Amino acid sequence: MKLLNPGPVTMSARVKRALSFDDECHREPEFAALVGDVRRRLADVYAAEGWEAVLLGGSGTAAVEAMLALVAPNEAALVVANGVYGERIAAMLRAQQKPHEVLAAPWTEPIDVASVDRALATGAFGHAVVVHHETTTGRLNDLAAIGAVCTRHGVPLLVDAVSSFGAEALDLASWGCEAVAATANKCLHGAPGVAFVLAREEALDRPSGATSVTLDLRRHAIAQRAGGAAFTLPTHVVRALREALAELDEHGGWRRRREAYRARAARVRRVVRELGVELLLAREGDYASSLTSWRLPARRAYVDVHARLKRDGFVIYRGQGALDGEIFRIAVMGDLDDADMDRLAASLRAALG
Ligand SMILES: *Cc1c(COP(=O)(O)O)cnc(C)c1O
Repeated sequence: MKLLNPGPVTMSARVKRALSFDDECHREPEFAALVGDVRRRLADVYAAEGWEAVLLGGSGTAAVEAMLALVAPNEAALVVANGVYGERIAAMLRAQQKPHEVLAAPWTEPIDVASVDRALATGAFGHAVVVHHETTTGRLNDLAAIGAVCTRHGVPLLVDAVSSFGAEALDLASWGCEAVAATANKCLHGAPGVAFVLAREEALDRPSGATSVTLDLRRHAIAQRAGGAAFTLPTHVVRALREALAELDEHGGWRRRREAYRARAARVRRVVRELGVELLLAREGDYASSLTSWRLPARRAYVDVHARLKRDGFVIYRGQGALDGEIFRIAVMGDLDDADMDRLAASLRAALG
């Protein structure tokens, strides 16, 4: 099966092989060396000097929630949301009982940077939190512009980069970021089960604002700095992530991966456009390199389109929230080759033509 949902993705044979590596104890030196290697490789993806990756067992949501430990209990955070994942961040802050305000944009609209500017000008906020690639629609939010506003107001930015890390530009230093959260099994092409936060070292040195023991980012950071692990890490999944990061590096890093995604997505968009199906967002340029969303044609049920593609070996993705039943999404992450893309084009013509 070829997965065209935005994670977990189709893994390469090399990454899959790493999953059957010998059994290891997470408290032995060889596993500590592996964790050190993976943490360095994660920081190296964007050549982040003075940044540190902290691994967490769990899905991307766990990493986002752990990142919010950088928000102190008594400060207020500004959440900028234009989709399901932005709203999930607000739900986490609510669960952590931390003061926050949500600056919401309609899901199909870009974030209004001027309103972020006005909100931060009040001086009320200690952090801003935003999703980079809002997977709900496929929009790549303009982190450079949002980050510039945050920098001007001296408000550090926390980023959910779960579906962009490894395949989009992330200028961590000049975009005013303090931390980004991401996962092994989206643009990095690893296996599901391990996620991470990449943060400025000094942010990890502050007293923890965690409201949970398992997701206490600082506790994990301290343990991993000392060559240990706070709790059991998914050992095989960490091995697989090392292979996936080595592959990314050998294939030319995030820029080359973005190029590959862009070429695949351009092809899929051309095929679907020729079938007369409309994009959800106004312009192709609004989308991240890895994902596209289209409005379902009239009298076409999502389940039928999904079933037709699945018969041909492809899993596509439904809409979430208010967009469920209205759209379908195709991600081009993972280990896909030209022959897969040829078969996908034929399958899409059969499903939508
Ligand atoms: C996939 C995703 C997540 C996390 O999803 P999990 O199912 O927890 O891995 C968070 N944010 C964004 C933007 C995502 O695309």
